[in-house]
Amino acid sequence: MKLLALILTIIISEIIMSQNFDFEQHLYQSYEIYKEKSITDRRFKHADILPLIEKLKHQPGFTVKKVGESVEGRDLNLVSIGSGKTKIFLWSQMHGDESTATAALFDIFNFLSDSSNKQFYDYLFGKVSLYFLPMVNPDGAERFKRRNAYDIDLNRDASRLQCPEAIVLKNVFDSLKAEFGFNLHDQSIRYSVGNSFRTASISFLAPAFNYAKDVNNVRERSVQVIGNLYQALSQFIPGHIAKYSDEYEPRAFGDNFQKWGTSTILIESGGWKDDPEKQFLRKVNFIAILSAIKTIADESYTTTSDEIYNSIPLNDKFIFDLILRNLQIENGKEKIKIDIGINLDEIGDKDGKTFHFKSQVADLGDLSTFFGYTDLNLDGYKIQKAETYKDKIFKLGELNNIDLYDIYSKGCTNIIVDKLPDGKFSDLPINLALSNKIDTTINIDEPANFVLKKNGKVEYVVINGFLQIVEKNRKFDGNGIIIR
Ligand SMILES: [Zn+2]
Repeated sequence: MKLLALILTIIISEIIMSQNFDFEQHLYQSYEIYKEKSITDRRFKHADILPLIEKLKHQPGFTVKKVGESVEGRDLNLVSIGSGKTKIFLWSQMHGDESTATAALFDIFNFLSDSSNKQFYDYLFGKVSLYFLPMVNPDGAERFKRRNAYDIDLNRDASRLQCPEAIVLKNVFDSLKAEFGFNLHDQSIRYSVGNSFRTASISFLAPAFNYAKDVNNVRERSVQVIGNLYQALSQFIPGHIAKYSDEYEPRAFGDNFQKWGTSTILIESGGWKDDPEKQFLRKVNFIAILSAIKTIADESYTTTSDEIYNSIPLNDKFIFDLILRNLQIENGKEKIKIDIGINLDEIGDKDGKTFHFKSQVADLGDLSTFFGYTDLNLDGYKIQKAETYKDKIFKLGELNNIDLYDIYSKGCTNIIVDKLPDGKFSDLPINLALSNKIDTTINIDEPANFVLKKNGKVEYVVINGFLQIVEKNRKFDGNGIIIR
């Protein structure tokens, strides 16, 4: 059995290393084997990754070294593997609410721990050494917010170096003087690939190192590696890859690392339809990062034309979460046609783990140049102000049994309660108020609450941006707001 396993290992490794083998396709197919099962959503914490890092200390080939602490005393650990000449430094989540790549790094650690790929690793780690600093901002991750515990954006502290996390990142950078650096972030899910009707699901950047955006040898290598990654990922997310703004930012880490001689590659995870927890994009990160490591190890990027990078469209902003098109609205005597664009922002709860949505009417009018994650043509529907349900004053305790269908079908998005609960949100898809004296005019920047009728009948209600089809026995999703 052992011999058979050894032969199999050699065969698999040889296949992976051969020129014609599609490494990325192999990663795509085998991902579930390596996915770190204890991480299931975006809001995992430092305490969730600590046992995984602890485990790596006992994993052959891996070295784990504590390199510092966050403001609130959470350990920052550098994980390394490999003894090749070319050093690659990867750091993630300097913005606490950008965790997609951190999850992928733990998938990658599992992949690199799989002894059945040994011959491939012997080859790989004869060429490169990998250094990972996962979750640079654990205090931000604790609250799932961008900034650190001082409320400073670490990516604007690369020059002044006032925060412990920024100092650690810079110290590790200085100690390694790596040839390549990977700066791993998440971007707005509402970025589009240029003006195409596609989400920018992954955006790359070879950061500029000066205002003139010159390209020297260091930046050129970033451009070439990105060219390879663009091609490798296009088979999985065709048309969904963009380029992040290349304006020089002298306070940011990527721009400075590029200036200080490390070929730096920014990877931003954006949005993907029906993937709110970004688990598919986590898989794409897994493929992208391993693909990058391989192209650096086998130097296949060195013959890649700059043209690929130069032709990648820039991030743009043509996306709403929801667009409802061709609605008829009556303004006084006028009847006019409008599209309505609605966004739903996640507002984190105090526990840093759960969240509610806050809606906003983001635009009104002709939105034909925009598109929505949910995008509906509602020609023939009339949009009207929502009402407040007046038949009854509800007690908080009875809210879980209320008949939402009955309330919706009367054109209501708000109910009156005898007492308002704490906070800003209602857990149910209904808005709560103390009286019926509520202005429900549909206004830009205000929460999205209104009713859609066809032939005089309420067919849809929009409650705090959640579109509800008004049908009996339906399960209604979403959360409302508390109107104070
Ligand atoms: Zn970021």
